[in-house]
Amino acid sequence: MTFTFVTLFSNLIEGYFKDSILKRAIEKDLLRINYLDPRGYSKNKHFKVDDTAVGGGAGMVMNAQSLFDALDDLKKKDENVHIIFVTPVAKPFVQNDAKRLAKKNHVAFVSGRYEGIDERVIEKYADEVFSIGDYILTGGELASLVICDAVSRNREGVLGNSESLEIESFETPLLEAPSFSKPKTYEGLSVPSEYLKGNHSKIRSLKLALSEAKTKFFRPEQLIKYHCVGAMKKN
Ligand code: SAM
Repeated sequence: MTFTFVTLFSNLIEGYFKDSILKRAIEKDLLRINYLDPRGYSKNKHFKVDDTAVGGGAGMVMNAQSLFDALDDLKKKDENVHIIFVTPVAKPFVQNDAKRLAKKNHVAFVSGRYEGIDERVIEKYADEVFSIGDYILTGGELASLVICDAVSRNREGVLGNSESLEIESFETPLLEAPSFSKPKTYEGLSVPSEYLKGNHSKIRSLKLALSEAKTKFFRPEQLIKYHCVGAMKKN
């Protein structure tokens, strides 16, 4: 799978792929990462890519010309590239999007800077637009990386153990049960004793009860969904 980051600041992104799981996935050629800098397409003699907002307003806006030309070039090289813009006002990116996008061959992320991107670029080129949360970042690079990371781990072969994908939070309405590591007791705090006894059916029941408690605490609306789905299955 190929990811192309359309960004003025590729150096903010590059480091993320230099270690850990995604680095290994790149070494195995499961993932390929490209960068496209709109500045390289600017027709301005100073390679400017931003301008003041038409109609007034504070701050600069990324202009249409350099992004139109960069994205035309990208589409010329791969007409099937799936282009995602990141902006705080869009629908929130969720786990189902990550799984769906992991089936694509080529996804490009366009990162805004300054006060954002000339809307005509988004209208012309966006296949999808996502927000990663209701807050304003200084630029789209982190948002693009967040989405890329979540998509990548759903790509076959990227995670060593594909089972870890199946039992994760957001795969079902219930959140994943709490996890513990060794030692069994640390600074007077013990792991639940049932986890240590080796009775897998009892461990499963306890994990379910803990999942429900965790969901009730962190995401009560999800627990309601879980009970509704259960009731529908019974009827
Ligand atoms: N003026 C814009 C507004 O109020 O909606 C915010 C622009 S923000 C400072 C610059 C860029 O950061 C945006 O174009 C977008 O690409 C990115 N960005 C900021 N917050 C984001 C979020 N929560 N999710 C996705 N992208 C975000």
